[in-house]
Amino acid sequence: MNTPPSDFPVRIEQLICANRFGTFFGVSQQVFDRVWNQLTSPDGESIAYVSMEIGADPDVFHPVQDRLERDRIREHANPQLDRLIQKYLHGPRKIPNYSGGLGVLAGDTLKSFADLHVPVLAISLLYREGYFSQIVDSKVGQIDHATRWTPEATPSLFQLRNPEAPEGPLVIEIPFYNGQLQPTVVRAHVWMKLEISGQLDSFVPEFLIDYSLPDAPAWVMESAHQLYNAKSAIIKANQRRMLGSAILPLLDVLGYTSRTIHLNEQHGITVTLHLILQELRDTFGDILLDQIADADILAAAKRVSRKIVYTIHTPVKAGHDRFSRELYSSISHNTFQRTLNLLAHDDEISHEYNFTAMAMRINRAINSVSRLHRDVTKKQFPAFADKIKAITNGVHHLTWISEQRAACFSRTPSLRAWRTDPSCFGTLADHQNATTLAPMFKEAWRTDNQQLINYVNTMLKRHREQMIETWIDPPNHLSSLPETEWLQPGVFTIGFARRFSTYKRADLIFDDIDRLSDILIALNRPINFLFAGKAHPADEPGKSVLKLILDNQEELYHRSKGLGKLVFIPGYDMLLAKLMVSGVHAWLNSPKRPLEASGTSGMKAAMNGVPNISIMDGWWVEGYHDGQTGWKFGYEGPVEEADLSEAPDTLLYTEDAAALYQVLPSILESFYDRPESYLECALNNLRLNIPIFNTHRMAAEYVAQYGLRLSQDQEESIGHFRRLYLSEESGSLK
Ligand SMILES: *Cc1c(COP(=O)(O)O)cnc(C)c1O
Repeated sequence: MNTPPSDFPVRIEQLICANRFGTFFGVSQQVFDRVWNQLTSPDGESIAYVSMEIGADPDVFHPVQDRLERDRIREHANPQLDRLIQKYLHGPRKIPNYSGGLGVLAGDTLKSFADLHVPVLAISLLYREGYFSQIVDSKVGQIDHATRWTPEATPSLFQLRNPEAPEGPLVIEIPFYNGQLQPTVVRAHVWMKLEISGQLDSFVPEFLIDYSLPDAPAWVMESAHQLYNAKSAIIKANQRRMLGSAILPLLDVLGYTSRTIHLNEQHGITVTLHLILQELRDTFGDILLDQIADADILAAAKRVSRKIVYTIHTPVKAGHDRFSRELYSSISHNTFQRTLNLLAHDDEISHEYNFTAMAMRINRAINSVSRLHRDVTKKQFPAFADKIKAITNGVHHLTWISEQRAACFSRTPSLRAWRTDPSCFGTLADHQNATTLAPMFKEAWRTDNQQLINYVNTMLKRHREQMIETWIDPPNHLSSLPETEWLQPGVFTIGFARRFSTYKRADLIFDDIDRLSDILIALNRPINFLFAGKAHPADEPGKSVLKLILDNQEELYHRSKGLGKLVFIPGYDMLLAKLMVSGVHAWLNSPKRPLEASGTSGMKAAMNGVPNISIMDGWWVEGYHDGQTGWKFGYEGPVEEADLSEAPDTLLYTEDAAALYQVLPSILESFYDRPESYLECALNNLRLNIPIFNTHRMAAEYVAQYGLRLSQDQEESIGHFRRLYLSEESGSLK
């Protein structure tokens, strides 16, 4: 694609737009109408993207704010516009409706759809208490509490108005069948987040369904507040239903015509129950519903399948919803029950419904999120093996490339178009280009590292002060040492941050602290380890791993004679992720193969040129390139059924940790003794990995998967990204 970064001609006053659902900000009326018309067009050539979580915090990507800052707009005589400007410049900048990779991927995907002008809308839930906020205490470990946030004050979020009574909010009515034939109607409000393109010339609307109304029934309220609330199976089941059941009423109220529903994981699968019921009613009418045959249900399901595209994200059990038949019969009705019996049956556990199996059965296309994950998914679901294709994940490069790195890319002549076309990094193959970039890049990296180290040292100080005022024991041993012992910039810094699930093995590198310390002492080289991440509040084993990280700090410090410093940074979110992936010198990924289906934090590091040190799992099988972009370690043999176990005694700590200790000395030597070769490895990441592991390329593959008919112009620009890489290359991996 060769659209140059345009100097957008529209004045700030023209970024107000409106329709019968409200007044919005960030794109011109013309752009707003173009997108809305596409989504309501009778041809149905648009996609409804459904995800339990969407991570798109305005603090890491904020094109409207950038525009205000670029034009130095700080206030306005028009009070309505002034309020908007203040909100975008100073409003809260977190939308805590995500738990980790799945949500962040959804957000990144939607941003690329917006950048590429693909007609997509998204649907998720609004969680008034977010996921959860994390406090960490060195004695207790993780302490979780509800997140406080105000959708009303958050830029880019707008509550839809009722077209018939514009003073009031839009109310949608959502049917739930709780054991009766007549539905209970539950009311919800709707928030729209505008996911605006980098050029402000398009957007993807994300609709967040807000069930927390004062008159909501108790069973709705208890499931509405918190993402992945797992206090009971019924809350979990209801939360999934609240997503799945809202889709059709929402599309209906908006007049949206999408013929395709993309299920990002199986969480929203109950939409298919409603679609099948609709088909049956259209054919037989309500009266005959009791008399239909199984074959009629299956025929209706087959028609519904044509509307569904399904992405499976993990081989790990916790990612797949199962509910007992008994529990579910109290929250559905006869036709749903029969449909579930036919299509959600589990071949191994007969008293449960398996919603992943159901999603496998009702769709027109299935994809995994990397090549290796495709092969693993085929093994897990052999009956659907022919259908399962790979579309390897990516990340939104405009979100994840740090400001410092961005500035030096913009100053490199051959990378001038990098904002609109991440494939231009491929031109760094030309030595001339790389040598122009190298010194600037090195300086940007140094600055990003300095920034991260300052952030950590400031945090250590804050924790120390807090200890005097609160009951919290600082999570880091370093807080108790003199400041001269805190972190220094320029020291080799390894980052690790992701959800604390046991299969991710955060503590693998500390499996043998004696051996790790001996390596540092033998080379007489220091390392900082920076760790962050949250464990799901109900995941006790995950919390134990987090606690173990805290417990290892002091031992590592003493045993390595102060050469090894391990810091845990509480409150992992997108902003911290961005600070870490650009400020460290290497990104560590040590899951048990093949349980990390893709992993995306390592791609964010690669976007900043930061090399990965990783197990050959997920995306790294594709991003490794024979040692040019980083290091691999650990088991990489064939994948058998037994490897899918997450049982503690099958997690292969000893073997894989030993393999990591084997490569570590050469990494340290490269960093400290051959900095030019280390820098080359970084530049190789820009050249080899940015063109592939970005969501523009991924979105282009999804457009093909959807079979969307686009205008010729658009087809051409998207085709450019599709030609960069083919996730679904022929044949399978070992
Ligand atoms: C990218 C990201 C993740 C996902 O990281 P993985 O490597 O895929 O586990 C999780 N949380 C946050 C806040 C992120 O930014």
